[in-house]
Parts: sequence; C-alpha cells; structure tokens
Amino acid sequence: MDDVAATATGIYNQILDIIGGIEPRIAGAIRSELTDQRGSLKLIASENYASLPVLLTMGTWLSDKYAEGTIGHRFYAGCQNVDTVESVAAEHARELFGAEYAYAQPHSGIDANLVAYWSILAHRVEGPELERLGAKTVNDLSEEDWEILRREFAAQRVMGMSLDVGGHLTHGFRPNISGKMFHQRSYGTDPTTELIDYDKLRADAKEFKPLILVAGYSAYPRRVNFAKMREIADEVGATLFVDMAHFAGLVAGKVFTGEENPVPYADVVATTTHKSLRGPRGGLVLATKEYAPSVDRGCPMVLGGPLSHVMAAKAIALAEARTSAFQTYAQAVADNAKTLADGLLKRGVRLVTGGTDNHLVLLDVRDFGLTGRQAESALLDSGIVTNRNSVPNDPNGAWYTTGVRIGTPALTTRGFGAAEFDKVAELITGVLKNTTPAMTAAGAPGKAKYLLGEGVADRTKAEASEMLDAHPLYPGLDLS
Ligand code: PLP
Repeated sequence: MDDVAATATGIYNQILDIIGGIEPRIAGAIRSELTDQRGSLKLIASENYASLPVLLTMGTWLSDKYAEGTIGHRFYAGCQNVDTVESVAAEHARELFGAEYAYAQPHSGIDANLVAYWSILAHRVEGPELERLGAKTVNDLSEEDWEILRREFAAQRVMGMSLDVGGHLTHGFRPNISGKMFHQRSYGTDPTTELIDYDKLRADAKEFKPLILVAGYSAYPRRVNFAKMREIADEVGATLFVDMAHFAGLVAGKVFTGEENPVPYADVVATTTHKSLRGPRGGLVLATKEYAPSVDRGCPMVLGGPLSHVMAAKAIALAEARTSAFQTYAQAVADNAKTLADGLLKRGVRLVTGGTDNHLVLLDVRDFGLTGRQAESALLDSGIVTNRNSVPNDPNGAWYTTGVRIGTPALTTRGFGAAEFDKVAELITGVLKNTTPAMTAAGAPGKAKYLLGEGVADRTKAEASEMLDAHPLYPGLDLS
C-alpha cells in the first residue's frame, strides 16, 4: 500500500491544484473531508473507507461513455470497453457470492432494490399476464391490455421488516416508491427478545399472502435465518428478495455462511457496494437463472445509463473482497462489534436485542434521559460520528428517536481491534453520562438541545485522537 499511497499523493495533489484553479471551494471541500474523516471516530454503520485503488478507478474517462443496455447489446456504439468492465464486475460478483447471475449496473442501493422489485414484477406478473392476453412481448399489447397489466402490477403485495425495528424505507414504506406502488404489511420483532419472531412472521405471511417477501435490514443488530425465510416464502408462494446492503461484506468475507448466507436461498438479492463491502458508492443485484432475464432489463426499465467508472471500481472492490485479507477483515468487523457491545453493556448501556452478532449495535439512550437526536449531537461534538435511529416502539418517533446506531466496518478498516473498541465504548458512555437535555422555554426537557459537561468534548476528542493517530486513514497519503 505504501507505493500506492505515494503515487496517490502525487496524483491527488496535482489534481486538486487543477480543480482548485477552476473552483477552489470544491478543492477545499475535498481536502477538508479527508481531514474530517481522519480526525473523527467514524461509527456510522453504513459507511466505510474504500481503498485508494477503488477511489482512483472512479476518476477516469469511463465516466464519459453512454452504454445503456446490457453487455454486448447496447443502444450506443463503441461500448466494447464498458462491456469488458461490466463483464469483469459481474464475474467477480458471481464468483465471490456464488450467484448464478450478477448485474453490476445499479447506481445505488435504492436503485438496486427498484431493479429487484420491477424484475420480480416483470417475471411474476408480466409473464403470466402476457400469456393470458395472448401477447408475446409488451410491445404486442393494446391500450386496453395495458390497462389490465397496470392494474395487476399495482395490486401486488410486499412484506418486509418494519421500519422501527430496523427495516429500510425501500421495503414498502410510504416515503419510498415501494410504499406507494405496493400493498404493504410489515413484520416486527418479539416485544421481549426484540428478535425476529419467525412463527408470527409465518402466520402473518399466510394471512397476507405477499407476492414478495423481503428480508434484510438497516438497523437490526442480529443475523437472519434465510432458510426459514425461504420456507415461509415457499409456503405462501412468494418470491424471496433479500436486501443485504448492510451485511454484504460479512457474506463476502464468509462470516455469514450456511443458513445466514442469503444467496443460496433467495430468488433475488440486492446490495450496496459501499457499506461493509468497502467498495465505491453503488449497487449490485444477484439472481437465480430464472430471474436473470428480467433483472437484465434493469436499464432502461428503471435505470438510466450505467456509471461505467463506478462499475470499474466495483470490479476492483469485488476483486479485493475475494482475498483472504478481506475475510480476516470481515471477521474482525463482527468480532469488534461484539467487543463494542460488551463494552457498552458492562458500562450500563441498554442495547436493543441485548447485543449484536453482526456489524452494528443499537443503543437505547432513554436511561440517560436523552433522545437519539441529543445523543447523536453530543457525540458529534466529541468527535464521535454516529446516527440517531428509532428503537422498537420508539416514543420519540423517527425524527428525534430514542436510539443511536453504531457500526464497526469503517474503524475496522483503519485497523482498530478489541482494545480500541473497548475504549470507544468507554468514550461513548462517558459522553452520554455527561449530557443532559436542555430545558425548553416552558421548562420541560427539550428533544433536540442538550448540555454537555464542561471539558467532556475536548477530553473525548483528545483520547480519540490518540487511537486515530495510531491507525492513520490512508497511511502515507499526504495532501498537506
Ligand atoms: N437498503 C438498505 C438495507 C440500506 O440500509 C440502504 C441505505 O442505507 C439502502 C438500501 C439504500 O442505499 P443507497 O443509499 O445506496 O441508495
């Protein structure tokens, strides 16, 4: 990595000088972002640090090429190099995850989920409807036939994990198109254990009969049994769609194997490439052979032209994820999450589900008298970057919340291990214990404002700096 960092130092300094000559504020923001990321404890569970080769791959003229369509079948001329890029990315994805088919075009996780939903609809609804209407393709449909098809599409049901127990907006919730185009019912968790109650899920699914059963989460700190999810999907005739955006790195790194690996059980799997997988910002869809033809229609069905420069960076990140070093990293992500959870528990913090066995931990901060918003802000003042998050049955709603979500992928990339994560737990607890809600004008505890004990932020930042300096981000990269 030293040679890479030395080369990158030269490249970035020259490029930032050029960029600064055109718009200095942009060059300044790029430099500041590195300083900020280097100087804080990044605990956002969905973030990471991509390698310099991944970052450098994105900054190329592949960005200038239009390539709508699929490999070897594009709506533009001259796409031979993009074909190579997309084929290599898909090949790495197939081999890494053991998938029958991989589609590397989605621009983000939401886009990957849109491709998944529409390809499932095209496969499950469009196909049989076309047959019934006596048409070979959608191009053969009359306007009356289209009306019937539209009604069929709009009548479908989807069942995903409830937002307040850790599901994602794209799993059928109103602010997202998935909550507008589908009839939706969500499954929750057991009120006592806070774990997925598979028996209740099965009973609900039998009653609701979804076309699509969605598994996967953004803020559930536990593993999911995908064999059970498959069984339930089969019992109700649903397509099993898994959104592994958060834990793809743990699947790639062989931490989640057997029934915890969604790929052998799901019909369609979508993921982001930038979270625990440590690649560029983007998405990816994996599918069985049966669903491959409809997934392949992602562009132009719901996507615009592929971001070829990002697909190239996905290929590099996926190649990195195929190494034993990545497996060691993924195991460390899970081990560190456990250490972090234990460190918080022994200092008296309540954790949703009582701990973790993936890459994230969900703190319930009500015992400190705080909302998630106050806790998030006090931690940020102290150099600890987290995000507030709902907890099950959250009394403060989705804006102020009662929880704080933290994860280990980013700091594990920096080389933090058990000693550092125990110290992180100590620092977090110290900040929370020394934060009190500020009173509103009416004399009641506010939900946003807070008071942080004198000197706490500076002391915490100083202790964090010691660890951060010992584990530099992009070591050898000098943009000073
Ligand atoms: N799916 C899950 C489970 C996520 O947690 C997220 C992002 O937080 C997404 C999808 C969306 O990813 P993106 O922000 O890349 O669209």
